[in-house]
Amino acid sequence: MRSSTAVAVLGLGIMGGPMANNLLRAGYDVIGYNRSPAKVANFVEQGGRGAETIAAAVHDADVIVTMLPDSPDVEQVVAGEDGVLEHAASGALWIDASTIRPDVTVRMAAAAADKGIRAVDAPVSGGEAGAIEGSLSIMVGGAAADVDAARPILEAMGTTVVHVGPAGSGQTVKAANQLIVAGTIELVAEALVFLDAHGVDAEAAVKVLAGGLAGNRILDRKAAGMIAGDYTPGFRVDLHHKDLGIVTAAAREAGVAIPLGVVVAQLMGALRARGHGSLDHSALRLLVDELSGRARS
Ligand code: NAP
Repeated sequence: MRSSTAVAVLGLGIMGGPMANNLLRAGYDVIGYNRSPAKVANFVEQGGRGAETIAAAVHDADVIVTMLPDSPDVEQVVAGEDGVLEHAASGALWIDASTIRPDVTVRMAAAAADKGIRAVDAPVSGGEAGAIEGSLSIMVGGAAADVDAARPILEAMGTTVVHVGPAGSGQTVKAANQLIVAGTIELVAEALVFLDAHGVDAEAAVKVLAGGLAGNRILDRKAAGMIAGDYTPGFRVDLHHKDLGIVTAAAREAGVAIPLGVVVAQLMGALRARGHGSLDHSALRLLVDELSGRARS
């Protein structure tokens, strides 16, 4: 049975597509919109409703979820001409699940409030697998009443949903998340190249490393691909480069030193500059191989 709550999902990419499917499975009346129409057609095949324009998607929606790449995309889709703020009903709840700059979130939440639209920032962690499984970790910023209203929607897409503070706080926590993930991938990449150079069986090494203090989700989820040289995204280098730009700018703004974070931001940027922006972020291993004179064909 369909719920009477209409949820528009704008951005049906690697993450937004499966998140919209999970909302459908939870019984919501879901209207999907995407810039390129093929993804809307896929969503309609899954049983959702499709919209050809943002206006049509949000006009009657109680809740609007955006899942877009970067700050300018969210600004354009939400505050741009023919965007969400122009067409959403007063009282609608806007949940931005994209990872964007915290300062942009704060500014956009104020612009939404001017139109009577409640805004919650709810960036996610857990990758494509988490989006498909509905097991995302969701860090939520906004007013308590709005976060309470968003919670059932968020719980249809994730298992860990935590209100971390006012508007923009979710994005700040997500930036910290991206700092930890990038640094961990780089160290796992360095360890794998190191093991390889010593002729150690990497799979056996990962098995035992994963059971000790060095155990972490990157070893669990990414090491096998890094050993096989399979860098199918997943989470693209382009997006992590964007996120590390957010982290370094926000750290500078707060006067905080993040020396390892800055190095890994440079490495991610270099990987991208070498033409690998569309690979999975675990491709940091490629760069370590190259820096070590061990590039694999
Ligand atoms: P994606 O696969 O590139 O999907 C983005 C979607 O947004 C695409 O369907 C794209 O449409 C649409 N889009 C892009 N720019 C647009 C614009 N200016 N106006 C309207 N639509 C636009 O990206 P994703 O991996 O799902 O990531 C989305 C967000 O989630 C990002 O902020 C990312 O950092 C975050 N995130 C991703 C992961 C992950 O593992 N992938 C994990 C956690 C968080 P087209 O089809 O036309 O290109």
